[in-house]
Amino acid sequence: MTLPLPTRERFAPAIHLERLQRAAAEAGERGLDALLITPSRDYAYLLGYEAPLSERLTCLVVTPRDLPTLILPGLEEPLARHQLGDLADQLRIEAWDELMDPFTRVRDHLAPGSRRVAVQDQMWARFALGLQAALDPVKLVEAGAAMASLRRVKSPEEVERLRAAAAAADEVMTAITSERFSGRSEAVVSARIRELLLAAGHESADFAIVGSGPNAASPHHEPGDRVIEAGDAVVLDLGGTRSRYCSDTTRTAFVGTPPPEFAELYAVLQEAQAAACDAVRPGVPAEEVDAAARTIIDAAGYGPMFMHRTGHGIGMETHEEPYLVSGNAEGLQVGEAFSVEPGIYVAGRWGARIEDILVCTDEGGERLNRTSRDLYLVD
Ligand code: ZN
Ligand code: ZN
Ligand code: ZN
Repeated sequence: MTLPLPTRERFAPAIHLERLQRAAAEAGERGLDALLITPSRDYAYLLGYEAPLSERLTCLVVTPRDLPTLILPGLEEPLARHQLGDLADQLRIEAWDELMDPFTRVRDHLAPGSRRVAVQDQMWARFALGLQAALDPVKLVEAGAAMASLRRVKSPEEVERLRAAAAAADEVMTAITSERFSGRSEAVVSARIRELLLAAGHESADFAIVGSGPNAASPHHEPGDRVIEAGDAVVLDLGGTRSRYCSDTTRTAFVGTPPPEFAELYAVLQEAQAAACDAVRPGVPAEEVDAAARTIIDAAGYGPMFMHRTGHGIGMETHEEPYLVSGNAEGLQVGEAFSVEPGIYVAGRWGARIEDILVCTDEGGERLNRTSRDLYLVD
């Protein structure tokens, strides 16, 4: 369960009203008769609170012309009204009681002759299938693209939240890299990182990857019992959610003195990550940022050892649009926030990754993470 947030952490009702209006316009532009948004980050983005996930249908219905309607189980209505505050006046709220069929309630709120309706990407199958049966012959499509175009460009208030989350993650990185590593297991260091993430003001510690020695070559390694020792490279990738916005940063540490071979690999990686950060500018295709890093890693002969995309968008979710990946020719926009995180992984031996969150501004990429990108030498 996510902890309830103090009221001051909610955006003003006017901001959510504007988001609901943009959602209605977006649906219209995409030829959608409605967006059906069940509890999820999309729901929280629009309404400002996380509704409980349950077997009872809660569904926000946004149509191009009408007032948005929130259909929910009667027992959830007091919570919704409490959380929505003044925003409740801008919606129609319709509670269904235990004996009603909620799917027909949704149908009753669609304009007659509706043909295409988009459902939230993470909607449970029981709801998607129930809606499909009740709305037949309406065609259900994914709401992901419409929601992403609303959420990908961050407002200044959202950038402020991302900046605060990044600063909190930086505090954690600074603290953990000043501790002793050798003799502790990955799992112990990982648990310590989770503790530090919460102490730095995150509501939740979402991940704390600690990949040591040969495990550093596995980008999403699950920290285990391996005891860290001298001569290990250690990839530290940590993040959480703070005031509803996510942090995500990676640094690489080395226990003792790195051999020249590792220092060389790391220098290439550092150059590649800096080049990708420098490539960020409004209008630049997302794939060019990926190429900026990849070209340098390829030229140094490590190409096949960089097997993932260079970055992902970040906001209320750790991974969202835009994705910095070959094949994504969309131009970057001012206000988009994303990671730049190339890595080099030598199977069975070691690995390294450097990850910063950047915001695209008129002047280029603003790095929200400010800790040193050098290799961290630890004991
Ligand atoms: Zn990742
Ligand atoms: Zn990460
Ligand atoms: Zn990331």
